[in-house]
This record gives sequence, C-alpha cells and structure tokens, in this order.
Amino acid sequence: MNMPEYKGKCPNCGREAITGYEPRQWYYGSPVKRCKKCGFTYLDKRYHEIETDGYEPDALSVRRSGLAVLLGLGSLVIGTIFVFGEIYLSGRYHTAMVAIAVIGIIIAVWGVIDIIRIKTGLKQKKLEKLQKESEKRLLDRNYALLLAEQGYNVPERYLGETVK
Ligand SMILES: [Zn+2]
Repeated sequence: MNMPEYKGKCPNCGREAITGYEPRQWYYGSPVKRCKKCGFTYLDKRYHEIETDGYEPDALSVRRSGLAVLLGLGSLVIGTIFVFGEIYLSGRYHTAMVAIAVIGIIIAVWGVIDIIRIKTGLKQKKLEKLQKESEKRLLDRNYALLLAEQGYNVPERYLGETVK
C-alpha cells in the first residue's frame, strides 16, 4: 500500500502546512513523517535515508559551489554597477538593485564556505555521521520493510532475518 505523500501540507488534515514547498529540496533523515496536528503518517520525499538514496547528487563536488560563487559575484557586480550608474545619472537608485548585490554576496560567501568544507573533508565527515544515523534507523527491521514496501532501494542486509 502506498503511503500518501506530503506536498506542502498534511495529506489527511491539511493543517500541517508550509509555504514555498519545494520538492527538489534534499534533506537527510527519515521520509516517514507524522503530522503533528492529526497524527497521520505520510511520506515527505524531500527527506532521504543515505542508506537507500545515497548522498545528494554533487554533495561532494565543488562544481556547484564554484558556480554559486560565480553567480553570486556576477549579481554583486551587476547590482553595484546599476546602483552607481543610476546615482550617477539621476541621483537616485532602485533598492531592488541593492538587494541583488546583497543576495549576490550571500550566495558567493555560501559557495566559498561550502568549497572550504568539501576541501577540508568536513563535509565528508558530516555525511558519514548522517549515514551512521541512517544505518541505525534501518536496523529497525519494521522500518526497513516499510521503506522497501514504499519502493525504496533498501539493502538486503536490513531485510534479512539475521538483522538484529
Ligand atoms: Zn494532519
């Protein structure tokens, strides 16, 4: 039996809701969630068990963070040029352009921090810790069977009778 899926609100009561639900977001943890309002159990596919789904694609690649740095710096440069250009031409400026520059700085800084975490192995360590937690959850055979039933690629060792 397929469990109903969370798509921004509880599929049963609709009360446990978030705005800006983004299905492509990737969190680590159990996808099986319980609604805090009505107690209904559902799948939130933004959550991934490392033991069944692995790491987020590109989790340890600096390509994505490098791209973020470039995009961030690009926004910063464009925003700054517009603000100073407008001040020069008309004495006024659009706050939206300031926002673009500021968001650019934030994205670039995030990218640099991510690259440092990958290069120093901090991110790998964090992922290994999360993997241990995932392993621990799956050692509960009922949970492993439930995930397998929902179509997750559960390794055989969690499903066999010998697991304790
Ligand atoms: Zn509910």
